[in-house]
Amino acid sequence: MMTKRLEGKVALITGAASGIGEETVKLFVENGAYVIAADIQDELGQQVADSIGSEKVTYHHCDVRDEKQVEETVNFALERHGRVDVLFSNAGIIGSLSGILELDLDEFEKTMATNVVGTAAMMKHSARAMVEKKIRGSIICTTSVSASVGGTGPNGYTTSKHAVLGLVKSACSELGGYGIRVNSISPYGIATPLSCRAYNLEPHEVEASTYSNANLKGVVLKAKHIAEAALFLASDEAVYISGHNLVVDGGISVIRNTTSEHV
Ligand code: NAD
Repeated sequence: MMTKRLEGKVALITGAASGIGEETVKLFVENGAYVIAADIQDELGQQVADSIGSEKVTYHHCDVRDEKQVEETVNFALERHGRVDVLFSNAGIIGSLSGILELDLDEFEKTMATNVVGTAAMMKHSARAMVEKKIRGSIICTTSVSASVGGTGPNGYTTSKHAVLGLVKSACSELGGYGIRVNSISPYGIATPLSCRAYNLEPHEVEASTYSNANLKGVVLKAKHIAEAALFLASDEAVYISGHNLVVDGGISVIRNTTSEHV
């Protein structure tokens, strides 16, 4: 029988209508969590909730760029379930693909608004709820290999993901005294609408590109692998892990870029 690693916990997941967020909603519910699945794609988000077919998951509209909506979403979780144990702040956009020489500052700000300001707002209101209810919660943010390695994403995106790492470290320092853990997950390229649309590629083309560039061979990186990492960080198995950036990239960010094709 499967062990339910989040039995009875309440999790708030943003960017839940698609890709990594969608996989995480499914995995968290399978593991016994009550999930508030938040996104701006209402039809898709509701479909995700309906497809799981469990009273444990509820879709809720939340644009993370709007602090009022963020606060209202945290309050919705509190009204429905009385607590928030886990925040998976995962909503993100790739934004403009331009580099520094052509940088459009309006587009740059839009990327910051979702990826950085949105994450900060989610952290603020979720952490307040945890502190108020004296919950030793877990906050997890989706960053990217672009949070640590330049040249792996567009300028605005790379900058925004570096900033999210800063938010994680700062919040880790401030919230540790309340027993709240704060971590991030840095994925390498995965076939989701974000990557397929940005680079005008089919899912199998994104996967082929990641695979050919990757260090670790014999595995195709999927959204499910990031959901597994989030499950670990959300669960009590990670009870003393805080301030950590869990890199899920098959080693690409720590090696010299050479081919290691043996399998
Ligand atoms: P995705 O496009 O499938 O999912 C992102 C979700 O975020 C979408 O459902 C979208 O509607 C939602 N979203 C966007 N703006 C929002 C807002 N203002 N408020 C609320 N929700 C909003 O893409 P994904 O690949 O699953 O992306 C999830 C996270 O993973 C992002 O933070 C992304 O930067 C990160 N990431 C993705 C990859 C990749 O290769 N796909 C790699 C590294 C990191």
